Amino acid sequence: PRIDTIPDNEQATICPYCGVGCGLILKTRGARIVSISGDSSNPVSKGRLCVKGRYGVTGFVHHPDRLTGPLVRKNGVYTPVPWDEALETVCSRLAQYKPSEVAVISSAKATNEENYLIQKLARAVLETNSIDHCARLCHAPTVAGLAAAFGSGAMTNSIGDLKKAACFFIIGANTSESHPIIGFDLKQAIKNGARLIVANPAPVPLASRADIYLQHTPGSDVVLLSAMCKVIISEGLFDRTFIEERTEGFEELAASLADFSLDQAAETCGVPLTDIKAAARLYASSQPAAILYAMGITQHSHGTENVLAVANLAMLTGNIGKPGGGVNPLRGQNNVQGACDMGALPDVYPGYQKVGDAATRRKFESAWGVKLPYRRGLTVPEILDSIDRGKIKALYIVGENLILSEPDSGRVRQALSKLEFLAIQDIFITETAELAHVILAAASFAEKEGTFTNTERRVQRLRQAIQPAGESRPDWWITAELGKRLGGKGFNYSGPEQIFNEMRALTPSYSGISYHRLESGGLQWPCPDEDHPGTPILHAKQFARGRGIFKPVGYLPPAEQPDADFPFILTTGRSPYHFHTGTMTRRVTGLKALQPREILEIASSDAARLAISAGDTVRVTSRRGAVTAEARINRRLKPGVVFMSFHFPETNTNIITSPASDPSSGTPELKVAAVRLEKV
Ligand code: SF4
Repeated sequence: PRIDTIPDNEQATICPYCGVGCGLILKTRGARIVSISGDSSNPVSKGRLCVKGRYGVTGFVHHPDRLTGPLVRKNGVYTPVPWDEALETVCSRLAQYKPSEVAVISSAKATNEENYLIQKLARAVLETNSIDHCARLCHAPTVAGLAAAFGSGAMTNSIGDLKKAACFFIIGANTSESHPIIGFDLKQAIKNGARLIVANPAPVPLASRADIYLQHTPGSDVVLLSAMCKVIISEGLFDRTFIEERTEGFEELAASLADFSLDQAAETCGVPLTDIKAAARLYASSQPAAILYAMGITQHSHGTENVLAVANLAMLTGNIGKPGGGVNPLRGQNNVQGACDMGALPDVYPGYQKVGDAATRRKFESAWGVKLPYRRGLTVPEILDSIDRGKIKALYIVGENLILSEPDSGRVRQALSKLEFLAIQDIFITETAELAHVILAAASFAEKEGTFTNTERRVQRLRQAIQPAGESRPDWWITAELGKRLGGKGFNYSGPEQIFNEMRALTPSYSGISYHRLESGGLQWPCPDEDHPGTPILHAKQFARGRGIFKPVGYLPPAEQPDADFPFILTTGRSPYHFHTGTMTRRVTGLKALQPREILEIASSDAARLAISAGDTVRVTSRRGAVTAEARINRRLKPGVVFMSFHFPETNTNIITSPASDPSSGTPELKVAAVRLEKV
């Protein structure tokens, strides 16, 4: 090997991609990462990595497109400027607006410390609760639904605990491709005898290993889950003791299902009733049984109802609070759990403490030495609407690429173009950053310290392996500088540990977690004091809200149904080789070679009918616009359904997705849009 590829140092840290939170060993030489291996001491991944963690990091960290210093747009041209000038420009512009005219969007890619600071800046300095982040696109219905049913909106069990399950029911998740290391664990458990039920309109790879595969129509999840509940109740397969001792609302749920027609349900779902009954019996008779779900449950105009239906099913069978059971929402981004925990949300401070609660507000006012706004702030879709209506005039975005990630992207671009001032903090000039007035160059995950919280609520240490690229700076440093320069109190931090300690003093579920304790492998919240070992399984003795509550749910069809003009249902998801808006993975040569462009997956019968062959370019049109993509025939896809990812700006799938959203959480219906197809 060449001498410059031989590492002379290494650092253990955490993968920057998905919510599994695998441990990476970054092997470095001087300022460069020269190789990466899995961290065998990491309790989650035990040395394993997927293709993105192993091969998808160095390429973007050292990419020549990296921002190496702040830029200010002058006469339409981005001009490199010293940090002082960039920060003063942002502060002088933000200071011109009333609190109601400013909003902040934080990042599920940033650390806990950074999210804590960003929400503190919004609330304590900019005097607004209009702070949100991309959890709005994914698990906001989980936070709303599971908090209502159980009292806590997070994964109930642990990744390591899954091997104890006798049966997995995976609905609306592509676990082996989107959370590959959890997928490995599931495959191992299945080899060892665990049973598997998969429900997914898209024929995800794990479906081929399932005992029962339910390929239901997109948007019919509530009906499918309610049908399973009905079978379990009518056949007496429920756990009477658990229901009596631990829950409330069972009679109401049973009454709501009395007139529920199983035949009608099977028709709505497009699944044979015998399969639904078999799935209900297998799930209810396997103990313990774990439910896993992801965006296929949440990204609907009734996502919160879907989550409540999942919770009903788990409580009916007593599968909460026990090893190998539980309701396990799989979080997408590496730190989306942490960004929620840190209060980068419009209605809660860190630890889900409500901004509307006067005693809580006084606690934060006293800690931060300021008066705080008491009204709930705006969600991302509400922020975009307010910009469109001229109410929000200035926006500070950290590490989010709304033009590719939000539905109805044409409208998002139009709204952002109306801003009087847009500041973006990122590691690349993203499609959204192209609209910014100031771009603040952020350090990558490999260049900073902090903590991430993974999907199983495990807080883990992120450690710096190399110096930040050029003059880029960690997000916490940039946000703290803005806080100081805007006259905020308490923004003089020596580093992330000091920020973490301030946060944990105010956040009961994190109180017992310290950097020192995290040296030995991470801790799962709630961890209320320094002697507490952390909590691998939630709701073990009682639910966070006391008793779990069954909530009857009704079926609401998706906002858009196929019709004569738009006869197909488009559903979207992730490719195994790319991540979200592709900002990082599209810059990794190997990953780009594995999938260089957007693909439209279409069922064989539909392709034959429209004379579409593999490799043809197809125009996909919805009520909002049209995009083109290369066709791939998928013989296992349900006829009438087509699938696309959203990783490629050349296509920008979200131009055509639906902005209809779940009224309880604001999460958009990215899983169902009516489209038509034409071979170009
Ligand atoms: Fe990274 Fe997720 Fe892959 Fe683990 S499974 S290496 S956290 S992308």
